[in-house]
Amino acid sequence: MKVAVIGAGVSGLGSLKVCLDEGLEPTCFESSHDIGGLWRFKETPEPGRANIYKSVVINSSKEMMAFSDFPPPAELPNNMHHSEVMLYVRLYAEAFKLLQHIQFQTTVVSVRQTLDFAATGQWDVETETRDGQRETRVFDAVIVCTGHFTQPHLPLGDFPGIERFEGRYFHSWDYRSADDMEGKRVVVIGIGNSGGDIAVDISRVAEKVYLSARSGAWLVSRVGEGGLPADLVGTSRMDMMMGKLFPSWVNKMVENKLNKVVNHKLYGLQPNHGFFQQIPLVNDDLPARIISGRVQLKPNVKQFCGSTVVFADGSVIDKVDVVVFATGYNYSFPFLPSALQAKSGYRLNLYKHVFPPALTRPTLAVVGFIHGLGAINPLAEMQARWATRVFKGLTKLPSEKTMIKEIEKDTVTMHQRFACSDRNPIQVEYVPYLDFVAEQVGVRPNLLWLLLTDPRLALNILLGPCTPYQYRLTGPGQWAGARQAILTQWDRVIQPFKTRVVPEPETKPSSKRNIIMFFSGSVACSTKTKCFLPHNIAKDLKYDSSCGSDWRRFKENPEPDRASIYHSVIINTSKEMMCFSDFPIPGHYPNFMHNSLIMDYFRMYADNFQLTKYIRFNTKVLQVKQRSDFSHSGQWDVETENKDGKKEKHIFDAVMICIGHHCHPNMPLHDFPGIDTFKGKYFHSRDYKTPEEWRNKKAVVIGIGNSGGDIAVELSRVTKQLYLSTRRGAWVLNRVGDNGLPLDLFFNRVLNSVRRILPFGFFCGLGERQLNRRFDHALYNLKPKHRLFSQHPTVNDELPNRILSGTVQVKPNIRRFQGSNVEFDDGSVVEDVDLVVFATGYRFSFPFLASQVVTVTENKASLYKYVFPPELARPTLAIIGLVQPLGAIMPISEMQARWATRVFKGCIKLPSVASMLKDIQCKEETMAKRYVTSHRHTIQVDYVEYMDEIAKMVGVLPNSLRLLLTDPRVGLNVIFGPCTPYQYRLRGPGKWAGAREAILTQWERVAQPMQTRPCDEPQCKRSYAWLLMISAAVMGLAAYINRNSLPSFLQDPAALLDKIKVYWPAQ
Ligand SMILES: Cc1cc2nc3c(=O)[nH]c(=O)nc-3n(C[C@H](O)[C@H](O)[C@H](O)COP(=O)(O)OP(=O)(O)OC[C@H]3O[C@@H](n4cnc5c(N)ncnc54)[C@H](O)[C@@H]3O)c2cc1C
Repeated sequence: MKVAVIGAGVSGLGSLKVCLDEGLEPTCFESSHDIGGLWRFKETPEPGRANIYKSVVINSSKEMMAFSDFPPPAELPNNMHHSEVMLYVRLYAEAFKLLQHIQFQTTVVSVRQTLDFAATGQWDVETETRDGQRETRVFDAVIVCTGHFTQPHLPLGDFPGIERFEGRYFHSWDYRSADDMEGKRVVVIGIGNSGGDIAVDISRVAEKVYLSARSGAWLVSRVGEGGLPADLVGTSRMDMMMGKLFPSWVNKMVENKLNKVVNHKLYGLQPNHGFFQQIPLVNDDLPARIISGRVQLKPNVKQFCGSTVVFADGSVIDKVDVVVFATGYNYSFPFLPSALQAKSGYRLNLYKHVFPPALTRPTLAVVGFIHGLGAINPLAEMQARWATRVFKGLTKLPSEKTMIKEIEKDTVTMHQRFACSDRNPIQVEYVPYLDFVAEQVGVRPNLLWLLLTDPRLALNILLGPCTPYQYRLTGPGQWAGARQAILTQWDRVIQPFKTRVVPEPETKPSSKRNIIMFFSGSVACSTKTKCFLPHNIAKDLKYDSSCGSDWRRFKENPEPDRASIYHSVIINTSKEMMCFSDFPIPGHYPNFMHNSLIMDYFRMYADNFQLTKYIRFNTKVLQVKQRSDFSHSGQWDVETENKDGKKEKHIFDAVMICIGHHCHPNMPLHDFPGIDTFKGKYFHSRDYKTPEEWRNKKAVVIGIGNSGGDIAVELSRVTKQLYLSTRRGAWVLNRVGDNGLPLDLFFNRVLNSVRRILPFGFFCGLGERQLNRRFDHALYNLKPKHRLFSQHPTVNDELPNRILSGTVQVKPNIRRFQGSNVEFDDGSVVEDVDLVVFATGYRFSFPFLASQVVTVTENKASLYKYVFPPELARPTLAIIGLVQPLGAIMPISEMQARWATRVFKGCIKLPSVASMLKDIQCKEETMAKRYVTSHRHTIQVDYVEYMDEIAKMVGVLPNSLRLLLTDPRVGLNVIFGPCTPYQYRLRGPGKWAGAREAILTQWERVAQPMQTRPCDEPQCKRSYAWLLMISAAVMGLAAYINRNSLPSFLQDPAALLDKIKVYWPAQ
């Protein structure tokens, strides 16, 4: 029997293989020059073909998208990049020798029934080669596998004014990469998976991306609970059964769970439909992009006016450069007779989406034209197995009348069940559909039988993910390897993670105190001149052309001895926790700001308090020396040099040093033997700016601090492979906490008190458990030897997803370099490495100070409370911002400055030298006990504790109890709310009248930047689940009480059984 297979994408290849298995004679026609269909990346979109963009990583995990008798190699990542999907598809084609059956560059232009079709069921298949040669051949059957992402749906008619839009617009089908989007304002219309991906992709370079969603979407991650691929957990047959028994309860449960990850309403994502009514949006990076304001959700676009976009809520965005229509696809089968393209509603008239019912002989099947909450491959392959059985006459289809009735019934069910559209009329329930088709083929797993004969396997099938191998255990096409494939599926899931041996945990000293609960990233101190204003003591001198320190306008080229940031830096501390205490960050600013916005805020601050007039830009301080009469005047000689080389001497009554501690890169080259032989390029993370240069190269990032994590993630989007080498591993935190709120807002005074009471190990354990629930740090090779609060944690929202997709591979420490090879401590070698980034931290020093004033050894400075040199005759010199808190540095710097100025003025007395030295020693010992020994942990402070300690000395510590009595609303906020800096402006010197209001409105400022798309209240669905559960409980109780008459009770369990029976496997 000769079968024409049209298309050599995954559906076509699967069909080809099935034909060969069934002993048929297939010929596959493929209009392009290669296999893979959609997964073959094309630099330029080819009309009539599916196209993908450079960054596509598959949403389905490898075990769920596998061909049923060809498990993907264990070492392939779980969620593969499109190039790896192509690799897998090629392996499949080669393993089953499929290529010899494919005629490339041959397009099928028409498929017509032969004149004697009624007797033979044959088809005239007309093809055209690339050079225009046409040929018609007769086939006994035809399988159509031409995909459904080929005809972009561009509904321009729905967008008045688009024809006069002054920017550029195109369909997502044309999108390749964000290369030409730098600095642009982009509107992406449509919140399907392409829309979400493209919005995130572009947001990394664009000025801003507006994601316009008419109906919202449920957002799910690829990284599921514990870090396992999300489609492997919660998708078992048992889960399906529960979903069928208690649909609204399960739906509610899922939605609640998703809202716990990000509050869909707060994020503007809230859809009108239930979770199971539409394919969800799979995107791991979107929450962090929304909370950092890089992507802003918007409602439907109402109209375009020039380059302005008007949205349905009346909001307007001006100067839009680009609009991407991620508005889906139309389907078409131009080569098929129109009679076969009849419709039922707006759905194609196909019995179970495969067979046209009106054919007198069932010898044509459409394969892969389907959509379910799962991968398409297994669905397409199963359809092909059914089709070939039908072609051979081994499986009978129902009568035409029955099929038409079924189609109509399915169409109605589909409309009730799913939020369908005319472009997505192919929605099915994944497992029930697979089971139905499998039953037709005779390959549906017999669960009851398996429970008796092979319980291990049966439990895997019932409780494990519904992987495609389950349909190869029995019946036609049975595969001897199926059982083993099922039993080893988790091994293959785990294998790609095994890139670093996770060390055994260290036994840590148990200390009850010493725990911090705030997070920080690469933040640095900023200008503190404002503190001087009321006291009029001195002026700050800055060798710089603007204010802002680390955050100072992004520098294309790092400048010597200056902190430097990379293009993409987004702060790790949220705006309410990082602002100056009397100057809240505007409500509409995103919670986690891009470096450019932080600069804007600093400028606003400087302007508001007229600070710039006190700053001498482009002025470098060369020397700060005690004057000869220092012991009684406390004065300093300060020598400066301006940009023209002009030196000047000044006398100051006091000096505050605010030079940051991210200026001098720490490059421990001596720890890396052979680095001198390294043929690639290497530099410190400080010199890293953008990833572009490293496209398709191999890169190693050393160090998993905040810079290392950020740079690894960013590079991994363009490199061929990125290796992240870590000696110790790290605990990785998110910016986005529960319900999508900034994580650092969850830590309040109550929690701070709790952690003081609980033993160190226990408290760490609680936090570690929480982090492991997000992703298992051992599985992801990140688990460190030390406890959660023994190291400055790494904050990174995107790293887990990059590890799951294999684009970042975690490796141990580097043993040595040899030419362009890098050998790791576990003996593994990576060849042809092009780039090594040393994200190995910084060292600080004060070269303009005499060493006896502040001694720095091993990144340690002997300073009282990290501010005052203890042995000065007069306390007129303060170091500001030389701390590494688990929280923001800005409020701490400000508090230190408030303290310093009070000390300078003599309003506050410092303790005796001996007491200060004792305090310093005590701090050092505590630090040594608690933290991993490293130059990174020499200036570590606990945010709340340290702030409170200094605030108490300044006299501005909020009195919580008193507040509770006098102003309970504020009192409750101070105790239970986030420990925002405004709390230190409620009383005492520097009291600010706006502090109370700032505290009471802090949550409004958190929500405001995300309120960009009005969301309807979710539809209140009536749930009968409780009724059912209560009934079940009552039945159980009745059965127990009447257990003597149980046999008779069991005689009529019909109602319940009828419900369950649908899910029982075929006998
Ligand atoms: C961005 C993106 C991400 C996706 N991610 C996933 C995912 O995570 N999981 C998942 O399961 N699915 C995903 N999909 C869906 C994807 O379409 C399917 O997984 C699958 O690749 C479809 O394969 P196919 O063979 O049916 O179609 P295609 O891959 O489109 O192949 C059709 C083939 O037919 C050929 N052809 C067409 N017309 C003719 C003709 N007249 N004559 C000869 N040859 C012809 C084409 O050249 C092409 O090679 C994604 C789709 C997109 C766009």
